[in-house]
Amino acid sequence: MDDTIAAIATPFGSGGIGVIRISGPKAFDIASTLFSRRKNRSEGFTGLESHRVYDGYIFDSKNRDIRDEVLLIPMKGPCSYTAEDVVEIQAHAGPIVLRTILDEILTQGARLSEPGEFTKRAFLNQRIDLTQAEAVADIINAKSVSALKFAASQNLGALKRQIQELREKLIQFLALIEVNIDFPDDVEPFEPSQTEIELVDDVLEKCREFIRQHEDACFLKEGIRITICGAPNVGKSSLMNRLLEQDRSIVTAIPGTTRDPIEEGLNIEGIPFVIIDTAGIHQTDDLVEIIGIEKAKDHITAADLVLFLKEPGTHFTDREFEKVVSVENQLGKKVIFVINKIDLNEGNLPELSEKYQHIPKIEISALLNKGIIELKQKIVNICIARLDMGKSSVIPNLRHKKALEQAVENLMFVKTGLKQSQEEEILAIDIKNSIDSLGTITGETASLDILDSIFNNFCIGK
Ligand code: GDP
Repeated sequence: MDDTIAAIATPFGSGGIGVIRISGPKAFDIASTLFSRRKNRSEGFTGLESHRVYDGYIFDSKNRDIRDEVLLIPMKGPCSYTAEDVVEIQAHAGPIVLRTILDEILTQGARLSEPGEFTKRAFLNQRIDLTQAEAVADIINAKSVSALKFAASQNLGALKRQIQELREKLIQFLALIEVNIDFPDDVEPFEPSQTEIELVDDVLEKCREFIRQHEDACFLKEGIRITICGAPNVGKSSLMNRLLEQDRSIVTAIPGTTRDPIEEGLNIEGIPFVIIDTAGIHQTDDLVEIIGIEKAKDHITAADLVLFLKEPGTHFTDREFEKVVSVENQLGKKVIFVINKIDLNEGNLPELSEKYQHIPKIEISALLNKGIIELKQKIVNICIARLDMGKSSVIPNLRHKKALEQAVENLMFVKTGLKQSQEEEILAIDIKNSIDSLGTITGETASLDILDSIFNNFCIGK
């Protein structure tokens, strides 16, 4: 932490602007040596003031040749990204020019940063907590507007504040018990009251709520999986192509054309989806098709939403209803009945029996592009209802979820301990373990392994 690091902070390749970042005690000195505000004055510039933008030139240290015309922004710590002295140089973005400037900076005594090292320093200097550091990676990797919204709110400290609040409550409770352990003669003996039980229940409920939020929303990051299924030739591939607005699946009049399930990403109203076109589920002797059908069943099981296709002149069989019921019964999973080919006047439209009236049904023509917008709207509505987006402002990630589960386990020990009037020493250990579990989320008690695994996933320069 007492050395100075540098890296190119923008992606490799050519572009309008490329940014080089320097952080550490020598950042201002190095910039002063290599930078000058005038073309013909290559001796450097010593009067850098914090939080100003300077236009000028970077020179090479040996021959004092101009390397590039740049904008240079010095930021004195702690008012900088890393809370150390930082200098950002905006040069032209080309692999050679950026590399040459970086080499000059390294020659002046900086070290090439490791992946995520700037953000790691921001964390170690306590400018941000671990949830905010993780949110930086989430912002960079966001695949949808909604994922970005949650990452940005976490970056502003939404999750940090809520976890700290829970920790704070437990810390006060622990203090109360420790006073009894340390000074038994000076205070009244600790008697667990309803207040303490309610406090533990309250923290428990909040932890469980966070875990639910993770489970509900993790599909936001990875994409909500929609499986299209139905008999061969019912129009599954045609519907997939309509939803994607491109020809991804092969459409033919020969049953069994789609043998391997085909997956594609799609964004509807800022929500990411993964659409899977499956092989038709039916009896067949073709080995390749059989493999495809087995995969189709797996995809139905793994889907968040199933589009069940039917065409006019057919009816729902008992087995199909059974299938739908089993899908509906799986936690949170939904089915939409889609009647395709309504442009054909071939027999009556399949009807849903009384028992299945609650399942959404829609009539479309994939061929004529009819009802597709309405179907997309239904898909979005179902997903938004499930996510209840308006309610939660934070989405804990898998690492947070594991720490929360650990906290729940420890808090359950505390609760039992309170009810059974357990010894104060044991209660104190369980409360402390709960506090530590929550502390791994924000980073107060995170091990070096956890830090490494988080920051190693960052790109260099972040
Ligand atoms: P899949 O086997 O379920 O994937 O079905 P396909 O998408 O390959 O379509 C089978 C046949 O039905 C093709 O000839 C499509 O052109 C036709 N088809 C698909 N959707 C419609 C529709 O809405 N109306 C009509 N008339 N034909 C359709």
